Amino acid sequence: MKKGKSKPSYKCSCCGETYDELPLCFGSEYPDYYFSVPPDEREQRIELKESLCVVDKQHFFHRGRITIPIIDHTENLVFNVWISISEDNFGKRIDLWEDPSRINAEPYFGWLQTIVPTYGDTLNIKTIAKEQEVGIIPAIKSIEEEHLLTIDQEKGITYKRATEIVDRILREQHNEK
Ligand SMILES: [Zn+2]
Repeated sequence: MKKGKSKPSYKCSCCGETYDELPLCFGSEYPDYYFSVPPDEREQRIELKESLCVVDKQHFFHRGRITIPIIDHTENLVFNVWISISEDNFGKRIDLWEDPSRINAEPYFGWLQTIVPTYGDTLNIKTIAKEQEVGIIPAIKSIEEEHLLTIDQEKGITYKRATEIVDRILREQHNEK
């Protein structure tokens, strides 16, 4: 935390719930595919551990982080998402789990497995993942051509636009309660 910089508090436009600062980090607990498995079969068919998930020993997912730069703010908008990767790449991630040199590993391909709120249809769009330091989930970059998510990640967004996005997400979340 930087000292001496007061952050504007934020009030949800639907219910007036106030936050000390604009919430900028959102995430999903499971890959979307998880929900296609009936609840009473999940225990048997799904292996879930922290940021890793395997379904039926043939669908491999891991969690990663999509960052959208906010060009006129000190923090960025972050979505913790899941991507589907090959068994081969999944194996490599396990091998490199505790290896500090993994930041030099080649980026690898994945299909996005999370609906990123306010970004339309993001299921199964193309992404590239890049390993980070040990203890940090990989960085995910959308490479789906002409998709808003790709454009925003590349060009960044304004704080005003971030506020609009966050407001829409919070309204949705609050309506679900
Ligand atoms: Zn609200």
